[in-house]
Amino acid sequence: MLRARPLGEADRIVTLFSTESGKLDAVAKGVRRAKSHLAGRLEFGNECELQMHRGRSLDVIVHADIVNAPWQSLVEPERFAVAQLVAELIDAFCEPGLALPDVYALLSGMLSAIAASNTPRALVPRFSLRLLSALGIEPPVDACVRCGLAFEDEHAWVDGEAGGFICSRCRERWRDLIELDAADLRNLAELATPRGQRGAGLMARPHVAQAVDALIVHHLGRRPKAALQQ
Ligand SMILES: [Zn+2]
Repeated sequence: MLRARPLGEADRIVTLFSTESGKLDAVAKGVRRAKSHLAGRLEFGNECELQMHRGRSLDVIVHADIVNAPWQSLVEPERFAVAQLVAELIDAFCEPGLALPDVYALLSGMLSAIAASNTPRALVPRFSLRLLSALGIEPPVDACVRCGLAFEDEHAWVDGEAGGFICSRCRERWRDLIELDAADLRNLAELATPRGQRGAGLMARPHVAQAVDALIVHHLGRRPKAALQQ
């Protein structure tokens, strides 16, 4: 469950991310009553097996069983803030009604990773890159987004407006852009590598974290509301 808003006296409209239809809204009837069996199950970040009835406009959740509940550990403020950011990005980037199994796996894995991590914020750059990749909008990490050529001297600059990384030939010197050196570029490639594959890396270097942040702002058209304090 990504988010919820109240409906009437006792119900909620919940925004879910599902295996079958990706992002969708559904009605959780009576969920705000203490006796409701849905309360405590349909909580932020929980992964549930749901039974739904087709409603007039929105489907209605009639039964929920918890599959995975990282929720208790997400209550810790930093974990919760990171989980909120993750939910916001999924919500903003994914079209309703479109099944995205790779994004589902990424989200589920990320929420568990956040729940288990003492430095959850450090997981965000890799998650963001993998999300852009799952959606097919990640920029190349080994070539200039403007001219398509390999980076010169293993140096690149982050061009938020172009939504990618540019080479020294394409960089206008008056623009104050984040510079990535050879180690940063290697780190970027490691973060972009799927988990379990050779060369996959988890932790972002500081400039790389800023770079990925700039890409997210480019694609979102704004800073995420749940932006983390650096
Ligand atoms: Zn170039």
